[in-house]
Amino acid sequence: MQHLVDTNNLSDAQIDNLLFDAANFKQQRPPQLLKDKLLITLFFEPSTRTRSSFEVAAKRLGASVVHLDPSRSSTKKGESLADTFANLCAMEPDGVIIRHEENEAPGQLANMQMTTVINAGAGNYAHPTQALLDLFTIKEHFGGDIEGKTIAIVGDIVNSRVASSGIRLLTRMGMKVVLVAPKPFLPQSSDLPQYENLEAVLDKVDVIMSLRAQLERHKKPIFDDYEAYAEHYCITKKRLGSRNILVLHPGPVMRNIDISDEVLEDPRCKVLEQVKNGVFIRMAILKLLLLDC
Ligand code: ASP
Repeated sequence: MQHLVDTNNLSDAQIDNLLFDAANFKQQRPPQLLKDKLLITLFFEPSTRTRSSFEVAAKRLGASVVHLDPSRSSTKKGESLADTFANLCAMEPDGVIIRHEENEAPGQLANMQMTTVINAGAGNYAHPTQALLDLFTIKEHFGGDIEGKTIAIVGDIVNSRVASSGIRLLTRMGMKVVLVAPKPFLPQSSDLPQYENLEAVLDKVDVIMSLRAQLERHKKPIFDDYEAYAEHYCITKKRLGSRNILVLHPGPVMRNIDISDEVLEDPRCKVLEQVKNGVFIRMAILKLLLLDC
């Protein structure tokens, strides 16, 4: 039984295959490969894109999806996560897609070996399907060759699972990663180059990944005023100038704090393309994990 807890669970060949399948799914509507499969989504944190993207991906391949809303489940009555999961597994789903505030939660459920577990975002550590869809979008943009290209991750890096998953996968794929943020948003231990000044990297980067402040993970407010933050870190047209930089963001975008309205409309910004590609990547992941091919 293969799980997707982190992108480290995937071999290089499997990643190549996922990207290949996703590209094919983007070209043409696929057959109902998962007609007899049933998936359960279990989201302990809010989600717009990831949950609907998994549901769309599953349904496009013919699978059925049942959603359990933990805020209305027995977790509220004190049932443990492991017990909730075991009860869901007793209904014999082909996989459970989980989002949780604890970094370890998906791995713990995967270790129970009761059904395929797919991590849809856990704590500040891993969001493997986001990393894969970002890789797909970057490769698609550069016609496949990303070795040696530089990406700046800008924003609340230390609290972001998109940043940590992305750093692991994109460096593994040969990209250079630089981190740009005010001090409180930068990790204390990292081998990657760190900058507090966004202007200092603009001439060196091919891609910018902007991130929102992960307010739900801040134990106390870090900045009182995000407009002042935006003056230094918002991706604006003035900052980009005529540079040919691909601008990404996993969403939700805090408009005019993370990225300006103008840049969101600019062809260099591929935020909605990321969302579109997310469905194809998740279709490819479901195919790999549920059909083992
Ligand atoms: N949607 C992404 C996540 O679940 C990014 C974010 O929420 O800022 O981590």
